[in-house]
Amino acid sequence: MRAVLSTGRMKPRSALECDVHLVPLSPGEPCAYCLRFLESAPDPDQIPPAVRLDELERWLTATPAVPLELLYRRIEQLVGRPISLHELEDPDLLMRRAQRPRRLGGLYDDFWQ
Ligand SMILES: [Zn+2]
Repeated sequence: MRAVLSTGRMKPRSALECDVHLVPLSPGEPCAYCLRFLESAPDPDQIPPAVRLDELERWLTATPAVPLELLYRRIEQLVGRPISLHELEDPDLLMRRAQRPRRLGGLYDDFWQ
């Protein structure tokens, strides 16, 4: 006797695949590749600005496959300053701000605009 599989149900694509690494994920499971990268992510000051912005864009546009706090911490590193949660809702603005040259001692400059 064959087991009956629930073939008629579509699962949401975002829960089944890491947008960054295109590997299959179990629902609720983080992406092991994302986790490994974030555990030993390069210092943003040591990578070229273009690479830094590419990585930032990747995290901002992909469906998160890791715990949000990990992602959030890395995005802050890449932007180069603390960010508030509402900024994550506007990735375009965050990207534009991240493209500006960094100002020494101006950690909160963008905060007041
Ligand atoms: Zn991944």
